[in-house]
Amino acid sequence: MSSLIQLRMFRCHECGHKMRLSGEACGRCHAIKPRYQGVIYRLVLLTPVILVGVIGILVLSLV
Ligand SMILES: [Zn+2]
Repeated sequence: MSSLIQLRMFRCHECGHKMRLSGEACGRCHAIKPRYQGVIYRLVLLTPVILVGVIGILVLSLV
C-alpha cells in the first residue's frame, strides 16, 4: 500500500513539482492541492474495496 501512496501522478499547479497522491500540499512550495486530487486519491483507494464487494454479491447471487 505504501507504494500506492508514494505514487506521484499529479503536478503542482503552482511550481510543477510532482506531488504525492497523499498529503494536502505540494512538497516544494506547499501550495494546497486542488480539491479534485484528494477526491481521486480516495477513489483510487476505494475502487478495489467496491470491486470486491460487487464481485462478492454477484458470486453469492449466482450460487
Ligand atoms: Zn508546488
